[in-house]
Amino acid sequence: MAKPAIKVYVQHHGNMMCDYRWLLVNAEWMQSKSNQQPQSQWGPCPTHTVVVDHPDGRLLFDTTCPRDWEQHWTGAAAKNWFPYEDVTPEQYFEERLKQLKLDPSDFKYVALSHLHLDHAGNIKAFKNTDARILVHRKEYQGAISIPGEVQGFHLKKDYMVDGLRWVQLSEDTEILEGVRLFEAPGHTWGTMCLMVDLPNTGTMIFTSDAAYMRESYGPPPVGAARLNSVERIRGFASMRDATIIFGHDPKQIKEIRLAPEAFYD
Ligand SMILES: [Zn+2]
Repeated sequence: MAKPAIKVYVQHHGNMMCDYRWLLVNAEWMQSKSNQQPQSQWGPCPTHTVVVDHPDGRLLFDTTCPRDWEQHWTGAAAKNWFPYEDVTPEQYFEERLKQLKLDPSDFKYVALSHLHLDHAGNIKAFKNTDARILVHRKEYQGAISIPGEVQGFHLKKDYMVDGLRWVQLSEDTEILEGVRLFEAPGHTWGTMCLMVDLPNTGTMIFTSDAAYMRESYGPPPVGAARLNSVERIRGFASMRDATIIFGHDPKQIKEIRLAPEAFYD
């Protein structure tokens, strides 16, 4: 049977800024006897979302940071450590959807890799729509159970919003024919990756924060990457000779096809 005609749009929403030492370990970045003042590793940390156009419905993977991050992230350490300030007006989430002539009501599914504030920042746009909001059960249960309003990068007001149709997944799941979410925990309780089988491109895997960048992926996995989950991604990727798109890779984002002009099919 022919594979369904799927198109994948990768939307770049500009960059947070951060010290890469949060994400990677690199010996040259460390203070040592011969390197007393290691250089700053401050640089862009891109954020993207993925639109999957499928004959049986449209799926969005992740929702990036909100336009009003400066107010919205008050009290969250990310405001200082990962400020979302390298962004142009046309890169904001709502604007990118408009460039594809889309509106939140056009989505059947919104799949969340996890509920950190740079991935869950625009879930509220799907309030009172028919979109099913897909998240791993462990992620949802962990995130609603944090003490207080914010813990690390989990910010309750991102996801504790009325009028959302949550669906909690508890295992690898094929959402639409050729479109799967698979478990890759470690970055958070229930981090999931997206895998899409395309007729021309072949399989694409979107790792989200199970692997921040190519350097995190290795082999061997580096920095905050979680070994078991990275090896799980590598297993799927080598079996299917997949194209891997990393969660926050400042080099890769410049090399891939970006919406609205370009897509993968
Ligand atoms: Zn992230």
